Formats: sequence, C-alpha cells, structure tokens
Amino acid sequence: MGWWNRKRESSAPAEEASPAVSSDAPSEALSEGLNAALDTLGVLLLEYGRNGFDTDEMTARQLHIRCEQWARHLLSGGPKPGEEAAKQGLPIHQRDWRGVCQFFVAHRREECRYINRSSVDLRQSLWTLIQVLDATVAQDEEADQLVQAELEQLKRAAESDSAESIRRAVISAVSAIGRIALERRLQQREQMQGLHSRLRELGEQLEVARQESALDPLTGLYNRRAFDDRLAQALTMHRVFGQSACLLMIDLDHFKQVNDTYGHVAGDEVLRSVADCLTRTCRVKNDFVARFGGEEFAVILWNTSLKRGVVSAERILDSIRGLRVAYEAHTIAITASIGIAEVQSGDTTTRWVERADRALYDAKASGRNCICEAPSPY
Ligand code: GH3
Ligand code: MG
Ligand code: MG
Repeated sequence: MGWWNRKRESSAPAEEASPAVSSDAPSEALSEGLNAALDTLGVLLLEYGRNGFDTDEMTARQLHIRCEQWARHLLSGGPKPGEEAAKQGLPIHQRDWRGVCQFFVAHRREECRYINRSSVDLRQSLWTLIQVLDATVAQDEEADQLVQAELEQLKRAAESDSAESIRRAVISAVSAIGRIALERRLQQREQMQGLHSRLRELGEQLEVARQESALDPLTGLYNRRAFDDRLAQALTMHRVFGQSACLLMIDLDHFKQVNDTYGHVAGDEVLRSVADCLTRTCRVKNDFVARFGGEEFAVILWNTSLKRGVVSAERILDSIRGLRVAYEAHTIAITASIGIAEVQSGDTTTRWVERADRALYDAKASGRNCICEAPSPY
C-alpha cells in the first residue's frame, strides 16, 4: 500500500472483475504499475508543495494547500481545488488530469518569472552600488586634481614676489576648494538617498527570504526558530511599552494513540488539520501561530491580557474539539490541552515558555481537554 490515503486502483472496472481476470498476470502488472505511478505522482506533488516559496501570485502556504488538494483529488478522487468537499471517490478516469497539468505548468512558469525578476532586481541593486562607488572614486580623483592645480598655483605665487598674484591665487584656491566641498556634499546627499532606497529594497527581499525559511514543511505554520524571534519581540514590546501579551502552549491529547491506531500518515493529516484550524481560529492580525515541535503548537497573542487570552484559548479548544479528520474510512476526532501564561515583568523568553509549559502540564494532570493558567510568580 502506498503511503498516501488511497484505496488500491484497479485497471479494470469492478463489475468486470472475476477470478479469471484477477489471476490474469498482465492485468495485475498493469494495476501494480498504475498504483506505483499514482504514488509517485503523489510524492512529487506533495514535495513540490512543501518546498515552495512565495511568488507574486501565490504564497508558499497557499501552494502547499493547493498541491495537497490536487494530490488528494488524483489519488483518492476527493474534491479538486475550488470544489465543495462533498465530492469523494470520483472514478479514476473522471479525475481532472488535464487540470493538474495546467496548474503545475502555470505555477512553474510563474516561479521561473519570479526568480528571474528577483535576480534581475538583486543584480540591479548590486550594479547601482558599484556605480555609486565608481562615481565617488572618479569624483574624488577629479576634485583631487583640481585641488592639486590650485595648490600648484599657490606654490608658484608664493615663490613670486608679487603680493597681487599671491592674493589672486589665494582667492582662487579658497573659492575652488569651497566649490568642491559644496559639490561633494550635494553629490554625497544624492548618493546616500539612492543607496538608502536600494538598501531598503534589498532589505525587503531579504525579509521575504527570511520568512520563507521560517515555515514548518509539514503544516506550513511558522517553525520554532520564527517562534523564538517573535516571542523575543513580544517581550521587548512589554519591556519598552508595557504592552501585555499571552503565550499559549497547545499539546494534542493522546496523539500517540492516533499514530498507533491509524498510522503515521493519518497522524500527519491530523497535525495539518489542527494547524489549519488554529490559523482559522486565530484571525486577529498579530496573533502568531507556530508549530513548537511534534504535536505541540504555540500561539502568541499580542496586546492581550490574561482575561482576553483565556477567552481566545477557549475558542481554540472548542474548534479543535469540533474538528473531524477524514482518513480512509475513518473519522478521527482529537482534543488538546492548553497552558496559558501572560508575560510578566522580569520574564526572559525561557522563563515565559517554562511558565506556559508548567500550566500545560497542569492541564494534562487535570484530565486533559482543558486550559490551565500559569500563576504569577511575583
Ligand atoms: P499526551 O496527552 O500526554 O500529550 O499524550 P501524547 O500521546 O500526545 O504524547 P506523547 O509525548 O506520548 O506522544 C507524542 C507523539 O507524537 C509521539 C510521536 O510519535 C508523535 N509525533 C511527533 N511528531 C509527529 C509528526 O510529525 N507526525 C506524526 N504523525 N506523529 C508525530
Ligand atoms: Mg507533547
Ligand atoms: Mg500530546
């Protein structure tokens, strides 16, 4: 059986199957070949989706979801992207093979366009830097020559006995040097403005690259590294502006049983569904949802008191309780336990996480499927 949630496809329609046909070696080989081809297609689509990046047309997360929907449609006859979920088990010949091809080709072309454009932008930025440096050196040389010429004149004037020629040489040198200083200042201001806007563009491009490396491949949520950065930011906002924030540590209950009962692939499917559920539930702009590790998630609620944080945590708990994950012929339900800790003055990120973790431990010890608050230590 392939790793994907898929019934075996038969190359012959079910009503034609008979002992004589099923023992037919070429037909069996064809069926095996078809299954292997479908599995391969599934792996390719999912890997493509997991390792995507933001383009102008589609975010990495949207691509991830789209590829999964196509894989599910092609491999098990589920609804294709944009169709309502009611459709299931579509026969193999009615699946949209042409549609997936068009989607893949169009997206691949968009990726190529995006990469080409980005590398042209980067090259252009570097080229501007080189031009600015080159112009600065050339201007310096020109100015140096002018100053040198003025100094020569001053020297010659100093060697002569004429007070008038010394006076004229000094006036000329002073005005030339003043002019050079002014021009240099204007040029430097212009160059700095050009450099500033180029550097801002480069910074934005680097930020996009940074975000792309901050995603968890399985769920498309932010990963642990991104979480650490965001938690440090929330702590700084608290220290500097006294802004409150809550940290929620969310751990799925008895998740090992899901793996043991339905298999690891089903477990992965549950993790993805919980991730989607958290993203849907945490809709406030600054709510930050990450996969902390394994079957544990973390949510940072910015500018949120403990009282409001608990209301959000209850909403999250409710939506996880209501989740039903379809896997093969099964429907899997899951619950979670949540520990919540409001940031305290004197917290470090480690201490804040520890307090939320301790509250999570209390929630597990209280029977799971509930929320516990971290007591204030001060
Ligand atoms: P508890 O209610 O006490 O949290 O019990 P639990 O079974 O959820 O916790 P436990 O720590 O015993 O097991 C966690 C399981 O999560 C074990 C591990 O195999 C599974 N797991 C971790 N990461 C993944 C993953 O990426 N995919 C799948 N399918 N399983 C995972
Ligand atoms: Mg755990
Ligand atoms: Mg668990």
